[in-house]
Amino acid sequence: MNAAPADQIRLLDVQALDVRLTQLAHRRETLPEHAEIRELDSELAQQRDLLVAARTEESDTAREQTKAEQDVDQVRQRAARDQQRLDSGMVTNPRDLESLQSEIASLARRQDDLETIVLDIMERQEAAQARAKELAAALEALEAKAAEAAGRRDAALAEIDADAASVRAERADVAAAVPADLLKLYEKLREQQGGVGAARLYQRRCEGCRLELNITELNEVRAAAPDAVVRCENCRRILVRTPESGL
Ligand SMILES: [Zn+2]
Repeated sequence: MNAAPADQIRLLDVQALDVRLTQLAHRRETLPEHAEIRELDSELAQQRDLLVAARTEESDTAREQTKAEQDVDQVRQRAARDQQRLDSGMVTNPRDLESLQSEIASLARRQDDLETIVLDIMERQEAAQARAKELAAALEALEAKAAEAAGRRDAALAEIDADAASVRAERADVAAAVPADLLKLYEKLREQQGGVGAARLYQRRCEGCRLELNITELNEVRAAAPDAVVRCENCRRILVRTPESGL
């Protein structure tokens, strides 16, 4: 294949722009904000679960409290009725009187027990409330942190995308001036050779594979016509000659 030396040099410009695009794509993928946001998202999920648990505990204890207070009320009403009967003087039979008094005493003990239960539930409810409040505040702070990180990530991505768009436009311009068959060979090699299809021959060294050409290879390159498209014997990339090739 033949191509004018200037077109071969132009191919190096295309290569340099392609390398920049690859670097930008890599930067896009490896922004530290991605890892930071993943970490924050997992923390957020944990905190949300804890908050749901605390709020469930809060509503469970509220229900328990209502139920326990109803129990206290029932016992209190029954004790009040018994007391009324006792005070009315209508119960005169000693056995009935004794049974009534014993029931009143037993209801008083029951009421005490139930009131202790209510207090215990109230304590648990207050603890759950305090915990839910604390978790909600922590969650809010974490959400603000995540929003701030997402903002930073989006700004960085927008900057990278703007850079990439301008590099792509420049690349299209330069590539348009390279002969189609040379560009096609370059694209094929670039795909096979990890993103580098054309390399400068710099001080007798292929800048694609970094190997120095041996004397036979150098003589072949020296003998090649200026518009011959030379390939590196080692890595098969297009080897572009420049005044610094050391020939
Ligand atoms: Zn090479």
